[in-house]
Amino acid sequence: MPDNSAFQEFYLREIGVQTPLASHEASEPIAEREHYSSSIEKPVMANSEAALSVPPVNQTSSGNSSLQDIALQASTCTACALSEERHAVVFGVGDPKADIVFIGEAPGHEEDLKGEPFVGRAGKLLDRMLAAQGMDRSQVYIMNTVKCRPPNNRDPKPEEVQACGKWFDAQLRALSPKLICLLGRMAAQTVLETDAPLSAMRGKWHEYHGIPLRVIYHPAYLLRSPQQKRHAWSDLCELNKRYHLLG
Ligand code: URA
Repeated sequence: MPDNSAFQEFYLREIGVQTPLASHEASEPIAEREHYSSSIEKPVMANSEAALSVPPVNQTSSGNSSLQDIALQASTCTACALSEERHAVVFGVGDPKADIVFIGEAPGHEEDLKGEPFVGRAGKLLDRMLAAQGMDRSQVYIMNTVKCRPPNNRDPKPEEVQACGKWFDAQLRALSPKLICLLGRMAAQTVLETDAPLSAMRGKWHEYHGIPLRVIYHPAYLLRSPQQKRHAWSDLCELNKRYHLLG
């Protein structure tokens, strides 16, 4: 196993881990994205077998599409208005064979310019959190529920989430991860089809089509609310424990 003690020490210092874990649950964050919109419309995502069984993209004769095929098809998507202002479809990054997939909400400005998820300030924090757990983005897979940047980093609209659902489903099917980690409230509410607050979703295991899933605070939220980093750390530790138990 790689020696990640330096990263771990750095991150633990950053989260002030010498302070005992708060005994009470954190209250629901005000906002998790850098620029928050107050939209409370409930997003729509496919967590039903019916939705997953819809043939979402052009498939090969084997019935399966490779991640590359799906990314290529998604790169010209015009299914919603987000396609009008995007620079790039931000599909995903990392190891297509990774056992663990991290899923955020939607790309921001820097991600839109670079075509890669989580490359801005929040992404740098995500990298440090992964490093502290002995992982890096080349060994895991990172993606978003929505592939194009919502203007001014507003929350994606339900119809945008729905339009992107076919890429999301096809992408996850091609990845077939053994563990999923949802980053932040929007991704968690979308994928788990709930309007529960993040504080009620974190700290326990969920399932998505039989895949064990954990919800953690979004790194952008952690940048503004560093006192919550200890909760993100304990959730990541649980995730990592299970990751190391995988065959
Ligand atoms: N926030 C997200 O949810 N995804 C990104 O790719 C960047 C910031």
